[in-house]
Amino acid sequence: MNINEVKQILTKYNVSVKKQFGQNFLMDNNIVNKICDISNITKEVNVIEIGPGLGFLTEELKKRANKVMCYEIDSEMVKVITNRFENDTNVIVKFQDFLKAKIDNDIEKYLNDYPVIVVANLPYYITTAILIKILEESKYIKQMTVMMQLEVADRICGKPSTKDYNSLSVLMQYYTDCKLAIKVGAGCFYPEPNVDSAVVLIKYKDEIKNQALSEEYFKKFNRVVFAQRRKTLANNLKSGFGYSKELIENILTNNQISLTIRTEALSVEQIVKLANEFYLAQKK
Ligand code: SAM
Repeated sequence: MNINEVKQILTKYNVSVKKQFGQNFLMDNNIVNKICDISNITKEVNVIEIGPGLGFLTEELKKRANKVMCYEIDSEMVKVITNRFENDTNVIVKFQDFLKAKIDNDIEKYLNDYPVIVVANLPYYITTAILIKILEESKYIKQMTVMMQLEVADRICGKPSTKDYNSLSVLMQYYTDCKLAIKVGAGCFYPEPNVDSAVVLIKYKDEIKNQALSEEYFKKFNRVVFAQRRKTLANNLKSGFGYSKELIENILTNNQISLTIRTEALSVEQIVKLANEFYLAQKK
């Protein structure tokens, strides 16, 4: 696929590129193949694609997978892919905002024969919302290969004491193993986005070793402790939860954590452990 072919398809179907839907079409076949290769797609795997657009990635996915179910928000793109794949019985096109989808209901209805993975070149304006929705709502999806803005990929894979490490890093790394697999330059897309991109391979952990006692509390704790990066962990806890100085000092000291430490210096395991201790203390 090259820029002329993309333009030809746009003209043929009389559709326009819509910035507000994050439309940047991937033109590089090499990257499309790499994305599929690292996802280990076989005829015994079903794929969910979010935002198929003109269907370039879909084309390769449908060859390799058992079935592909796509969610597309733009009716013009739906028109294109419905037409392109009208003879492909293994492509299911859903004209829907993915953020409103009932993912597991759809999986039970259409993709109930094989394991389900997500492979997508995401709309960047809602990358985080999509990832969190999948984490929170789907019990079936166990792997995602997703293209996103490089900056977000760095955050998801960020390690403690780096500028990229934040609550999203902790949330993702609590549930999954994330690997920045491919860096992709802006020139691989039409139109070119004004940021660099990266493909992240996200695999759910078979077993979470240091489990949160309450996932709901852990998620809140994780948001609160990173709420103000310049503040110390202790101050974030005080302003976010209103915990007493005494309680905070007790728990931090028992865990050999300095009272002046910033949250970004803590590992995911340390954050989960602290969340559990504060959770138990506030229940008393
Ligand atoms: N998959 C195509 C490719 O690789 O060339 C297009 C990727 S483009 C970055 C993102 C796609 O997501 C667009 O087709 C856009 O219309 C679609 N999209 C944007 N917001 C969406 C949403 N909330 N739900 C479903 N699709 C959405």
